[in-house]
Amino acid sequence: MFDYIVVGAGLSGCVIAERIASVLGKKVLIIEKRNHIGGNCYDYIDENGIVVHKYGPHLFHTDYEEVFEYLSNFTDWRLYEHRVLASINGCKVPIPFNFNSIYMLFPENLANNMINTLIEYFGYGSKIPILELKKLNNENLKLLADFIYKNVFYNYTRKQWGFDPEKIDPSVTARVPVYTSHDNRYFTDKYQAVPEKGYSIMFNNMLNNVNIKILLNTDFRELINIDIDNQKIYFLGNIFNGKLIFTGMIDELFNYSFGILPYRSLKFDFKTVDKDFFQEVATINYPNNYDFTRITEFKHIHPSDSKKSTIVYEYPQDYDLGKVPYYPVFTDDAKNRYLDYLELSEKFKNIILIGRLAEYKYYDMDDAVKRALEVFESII
Ligand code: UDP
Repeated sequence: MFDYIVVGAGLSGCVIAERIASVLGKKVLIIEKRNHIGGNCYDYIDENGIVVHKYGPHLFHTDYEEVFEYLSNFTDWRLYEHRVLASINGCKVPIPFNFNSIYMLFPENLANNMINTLIEYFGYGSKIPILELKKLNNENLKLLADFIYKNVFYNYTRKQWGFDPEKIDPSVTARVPVYTSHDNRYFTDKYQAVPEKGYSIMFNNMLNNVNIKILLNTDFRELINIDIDNQKIYFLGNIFNGKLIFTGMIDELFNYSFGILPYRSLKFDFKTVDKDFFQEVATINYPNNYDFTRITEFKHIHPSDSKKSTIVYEYPQDYDLGKVPYYPVFTDDAKNRYLDYLELSEKFKNIILIGRLAEYKYYDMDDAVKRALEVFESII
């Protein structure tokens, strides 16, 4: 009946299904556990008439022209450059930490010295991961690096990951480097925007194709059996010789045969405030106070005439069954375990893994789209 089965209707699953259905004209079945498509990018208009992101703020940004062009087939865009402030010592300073942040937190002379030294070392307009900055042996920079490490990264990362910044993969804190410039934007990519009417409508447009059938509210294990010993896939009791494109948790696909992979989860607490705006910018980080890491106010992302405003608090949590696995946790042990799963998947001739969970990678939205497009071109 189906040439392709896609497990998971998130970004990766939607892109690959769309390509198979519209370019190859082949039939695709998408199996999705949740009651909606769009994965963690899912958004909706809430009771205040405001577009909100159910699974936390998703801000699209990319330097990949092909990714932006591809998604532009399914949506118009609202140009939006994300701004983040961090509440530090009673000041709200721009993040990524940059020259403006330095001037707000240090006396002018000292700030000038720090900035001049940063320019001497790195030039103007560079991005330096905090763990790299901390290694330098210069008095001014040491004071600055220790300050940023302690006030921006240390407590936030402990809340977010449950570990010190040194104990997690350096690529994670490097996502938010120190900028040697006055650029207050969270991202510096060429394309920064959100779908004009929201992500969910964009996903509807992608999947609106007679070749695509979507089964919501369905755990793939209700329909699919994986015979690990003989490397065969069964769909509704019959051998499935088409391709299974899996975007879920790879440890779940293989019944945890090499043990569980660690993930980090979040709890979102949405609130309505009875005023036009709650805060100055879309996101304010609270590295050092409270149990939540950040508050996001959606009206800054999607303007609305509402006299109220919707905000969301993010509380990091351990992942266990029943929660949403938002982030892979790259310990050495987890990375090795993932490789065992990957090797097992490669023994099957018809399993393709894509996406943050199946590939156990901290993909941004554009990385996920790029990878799905590449897999379509090269493998499918
Ligand atoms: N981070 C931090 N303080 C901040 C912002 C980020 O310590 O104010 C660290 C933290 O470890 C976080 C990582 O940088 O998990 C990546 O941040 P990003 O905003 O990219 O995370 P995401 O939006 O994907 O949750």
